[in-house]
Amino acid sequence: MAAFTLDELPIAIASADNLPSIPGVAMEILRISRDPDAELEDYADAISRDPALSAKLLKLSNSSMFSMTQDVTNMRQATMVLGMKTIQLMSLSFSLAKATSHSEAKGDFDFGEYWQRSLVASVAGRGFCKLLNINFGDEAFMCGLLSNIGQLVMNQCIPDDFAEVLAKCDHWPTNEDEEKIIGYSHSALGGVLLRNWELPEMICEVITHMHAPEELPEDSDESTRDLTMIMNLAAHAVVILGDEAKGDAYAKLIEITNEKGIPEEEISKFLISMASGIKETADLLDLKVAKPQDHSEVVEAAREQMIQISLGNAACLQQAERRAENLASENRDLAIKATTDKLTGIANRASFDSVIESEVTKRTLGEEPNALGLLIIDIDKFKNFNDTYGHQAGDKVLTTVGQLMKGMTRESDMPARYGGEEFAVIVPRTTPFALGCYAERIRAKIEETVLPVDGHTLNITISIGGVCLSKATDIEASIKKMISAADALLYSCKENGRNRCEIQSEILDLTQPE
Ligand code: GH3
Ligand code: MG
Ligand code: MG
Repeated sequence: MAAFTLDELPIAIASADNLPSIPGVAMEILRISRDPDAELEDYADAISRDPALSAKLLKLSNSSMFSMTQDVTNMRQATMVLGMKTIQLMSLSFSLAKATSHSEAKGDFDFGEYWQRSLVASVAGRGFCKLLNINFGDEAFMCGLLSNIGQLVMNQCIPDDFAEVLAKCDHWPTNEDEEKIIGYSHSALGGVLLRNWELPEMICEVITHMHAPEELPEDSDESTRDLTMIMNLAAHAVVILGDEAKGDAYAKLIEITNEKGIPEEEISKFLISMASGIKETADLLDLKVAKPQDHSEVVEAAREQMIQISLGNAACLQQAERRAENLASENRDLAIKATTDKLTGIANRASFDSVIESEVTKRTLGEEPNALGLLIIDIDKFKNFNDTYGHQAGDKVLTTVGQLMKGMTRESDMPARYGGEEFAVIVPRTTPFALGCYAERIRAKIEETVLPVDGHTLNITISIGGVCLSKATDIEASIKKMISAADALLYSCKENGRNRCEIQSEILDLTQPE
């Protein structure tokens, strides 16, 4: 974390050497701007006392930004041409830029790049104001020049922390990069510094929030919102013209300006046309900037990156959708696996347990007036199949019985493999008579089935015990009672010659104490 917090910044600035202090002429201009009786001449007089600044403002009045037909040759004329607000903001901008351009970069901080980016933000801000008919061109120009001042302060006051930020970035550091290592961003720091210098509140607010307009305080006025939006566009332009990765910034810039009714073509034209404005402003401010670049190439590269990114996103989305689909189908497979008996393909014991529990629960709650039927089915002399034809033949018998049962049961019924060569069917709404008929149909169907195995034909028979339950109190005990009652009847079938069904005629009411 940084050597000082944002709150301690004003003190830190006072004790730091080599940090820009507000120049005398800027202070004077700020003082005049706070005086309600101030007139244009007061500015002209103050500026005249600083010959370098006067020269710059004259140059500005004659520059293409104001496209005057007549040469402006003195400060009085210049103040007339530029007007009070422009004079005030431009002289502030120029004097602050001059003061800060005297600082020397510490470590790897690239001052040329710093000024290049600030200039681009200035020229872009001013241009976007024109494009969007927003009357804050001078304010935008000033915000642009001061947009990165927080980085200059970081470089001067906390050089080691800032060096770490630079070392960890392969691009110009963003607010997020700084926050990670230092704990606050250059935008926040810039806002604090400029407030300390008593610059207009709107400028401080815009510098603080231009990278995240959505974080503007709720009660911000419309002018501040407009200018913050403009400077946000300018920040995207800076990334497009200055960073390697420019596709996202281009996409965002196009998205926002599109919403405001400006087609992409106009924006790319504007970005390309900025080249001359940047050069002119750099000359005006005596700033040495990075070597000029071909804006058409840069804008084309931004477009291409944007397209690549959106193609990449579409591919990623498709991949993610496919992964999600696979996962869903894997989950479905798993769920089926968990509830299905592998050999016979019908419900397994776990499913049987859970369904019978839910059915018996309904009878404890009085939710279901119809009786619950349960059949327990056991293959007769099954051991013989294994012993005579082998275990695989035995398995085939089990599968056949399972599949035949499945083919004969209704949607609402659940046939299941109970264990070994025993099966069960849960019949959710039935009577002892209906259950008996149903059991008999299953028995007959199995009996008439002939199963070919290794050149032999196997005849299978089954025995079935069945019970019905209408009411219950204790769920677990009732399930046990039902199963043991059905089992007892099944045993009786075996005793009575097998290949039979025995169904208890009386419906169990297990709410009664025994
Ligand atoms: P009963 O008519 O009295 O029911 O005679 P049974 O031979 O069917 O009865 P018993 O319970 O003595 O034999 C059941 C046999 O089922 C014993 C066991 O080896 C066999 N068995 C259990 N599970 C499987 C299985 O998954 N595959 C095969 N092939 N055999 C199994
Ligand atoms: Mg058995
Ligand atoms: Mg058996």
